[in-house]
Amino acid sequence: MTAPTHSLLQPHDREFYDRELASFIPDKVYDAHTHIWTSGQVPWNWLPSPVGTDAYLEYMQDLHPGRHTAALFLSWTHDRNMISAANEWTAEQIAGRPQFRGLYFVTPEDDPEHVREEVRRLGLCGLKCYHTMSAVKPTWEAAITDFLPESLMQVAHEEEWVVTLHMVRSRAVADPGNIECLIRCCRKYPGMQLVLAHSARGFQPSHNLEGLPRLAGLENLWFDTSANCEPIAHQAILRILGHERLMYGSDLPVSHMRGRSVSVADTFLWLTEDLPVWEEKHQTIRPVLTGLEHLRSVRQACWSERLSDAQVEDIFWNNAARLLKVE
Ligand SMILES: [Zn+2]
Repeated sequence: MTAPTHSLLQPHDREFYDRELASFIPDKVYDAHTHIWTSGQVPWNWLPSPVGTDAYLEYMQDLHPGRHTAALFLSWTHDRNMISAANEWTAEQIAGRPQFRGLYFVTPEDDPEHVREEVRRLGLCGLKCYHTMSAVKPTWEAAITDFLPESLMQVAHEEEWVVTLHMVRSRAVADPGNIECLIRCCRKYPGMQLVLAHSARGFQPSHNLEGLPRLAGLENLWFDTSANCEPIAHQAILRILGHERLMYGSDLPVSHMRGRSVSVADTFLWLTEDLPVWEEKHQTIRPVLTGLEHLRSVRQACWSERLSDAQVEDIFWNNAARLLKVE
């Protein structure tokens, strides 16, 4: 067997996996938040282009080796001229793979009827929106409807689509405007299945502790763990809303950075490989893949909430399979 060409795994990553994760990750992994891309579609430079389903599956061997893996691919690009190429690439890469799903990348100006036709034509199952496409500046302060207008929520409701939302604003799910919008829109568009990415973007877990109790009882609200390395962020979802709402997500390419997200003050930062913080008095620290740090945070959350093996399997497969109607 030849070694995979799509891998960033180093020996200390493998040691981390053996020590922290090998006994935790179930046999089947559904990755409910991740990305693939074609040439010219994305700005990151630490992974090559293109990455399709085969390359994606090779990269996942760095995180969960030997596990049966399927995924929901979230189409994404920073470049408006590449949006249709991104959506076509996702459609092409899930074709003939019955356990894989894909979301269509939308901008707030898109005509809802055109979106409906395109999602159907491409065989996708919902929408991916992103704050950088909103007209509000800075886009980090955009309201949800600035990049996911209600006209698109209405189509998502009618078509019973999944919509993955990376909320912004400094206090994320603790922001009063975000909370009001989530409650009102989940009730008004019950057919829309809304997934709050990055464990409700709770990179500062205090925001989840503060805001999530307000979201109890919304039957069409879900969460993916992607890229968030704070155990309490996931734990807040497990305890306040229940483990059946939470789904694992690798967030390739973020999974293949080195370092992790860290909560500080009333916000968070990213301790990335390039920062001059890894030389400590006691030792030189070798940062591991962010996807491995992320998995450890999910493990710690499951341990702390005393989840059974069956409940962990729900987070890693069954919840996503139910949402996405995967056999
Ligand atoms: Zn992502």
